[in-house]
Amino acid sequence: MDTISPEKRSWTMAQVKGRDTKPELIVRGLLHRLGLRFRVQRKDLPGKPDIVLPKHKTVIFVHGCFWHRHPGCKRASTPADNAGYWQAKFARTVARDAAHQIALEQLGWRVLVVWECELRDMETLAQRLVDAFHALHRPAPPAA
Ligand SMILES: [Zn+2]
Repeated sequence: MDTISPEKRSWTMAQVKGRDTKPELIVRGLLHRLGLRFRVQRKDLPGKPDIVLPKHKTVIFVHGCFWHRHPGCKRASTPADNAGYWQAKFARTVARDAAHQIALEQLGWRVLVVWECELRDMETLAQRLVDAFHALHRPAPPAA
């Protein structure tokens, strides 16, 4: 006997598959709502940025706080077991991220990082993105 409605089941399956719950997809949805045009899958760029906004010459990385070591974030804890192993692994990831950022900036791209934990407060994140893109179009201050 099946007591789960089709609607409920499809919702459940979406949760199981993680569809629309991946941080990257949430950020894409937010950009879309903000009217910002973007592309994905630009594998030719250093670090394969998650989201690329060619018009704004900006790339966005959506980083997990744990793996990418969000500074000061409690999600960026270090497992007590094999701490040395983890620290070496984390150091490599952070160094790689930094190298990608420098390479992108040298190619003329602006790099934004959205941290996974920021998705808990979508209003603040939306405001941060609005500010980031609005600033690009603000006229330069008059020369003194
Ligand atoms: Zn974080």
